Amino acid sequence: TSFEDFALNRQLLNAVADAGYTEPTPIQQKAIPVVLGNHDVLGIAQTGTGKTAAYVLPLLMRIKFAQGTAPRALILAPTRELVMQINEAIGQLAVHTDIRHVAIYGGLGPKTQIERLQAGVDIIVATPGRFNDLYRLGEIVTKDLKVMVLDEADKMMDMGFMPQIRAILEVIPRKRQNLLFSATFPDKVERLSSEFLEAPVRIEV
Ligand code: AMP
Repeated sequence: TSFEDFALNRQLLNAVADAGYTEPTPIQQKAIPVVLGNHDVLGIAQTGTGKTAAYVLPLLMRIKFAQGTAPRALILAPTRELVMQINEAIGQLAVHTDIRHVAIYGGLGPKTQIERLQAGVDIIVATPGRFNDLYRLGEIVTKDLKVMVLDEADKMMDMGFMPQIRAILEVIPRKRQNLLFSATFPDKVERLSSEFLEAPVRIEV
């Protein structure tokens, strides 16, 4: 399989080439077509497998056709470092598109993040706590969200984010695509999956 075999557009394929990716990793081979097909995904994959691009590439493709002007995709991750890393990967892979994205995390004042949200974004990458803070301030519009990703779900459970995630699920549209990635699959993640995912395709690498 090569990246050219996927239903990705030229802008994305050029970004993949710019990034120096010559062939898709196993998680990318399995996940990209499934995400493009609008299925929910349960991905069991460690960091270092290329899992970020496995969901970011098809998500960028789906965003292009998703109706709406408010954010269309929400990616939740447990730590500020991971949020920043995912946001950078999006920047790299979206470099030839006009897709706008923002990293939302705590530990600093919200002013810059709020300005970015007010200017308009297509993708939000966030830690659950700061997302809820800014949502309560009325700074995040959720009505156009079509895709939601939980990355490092096991770590999010370990860090006690379940209530925050539940609060988010209550304020976003019911009809959406859900992707969950986790390095391990303990009971808590299994319970989260059954609450969050609908008829998921399970991908393990
Ligand atoms: P991740 O597992 O998403 O944290 O990615 C691990 C590293 O692999 C990152 O530095 C990516 O830029 C890189 N990477 C992702 N996909 C590929 C690929 N298909 N070929 C080479 N490197 C890749």
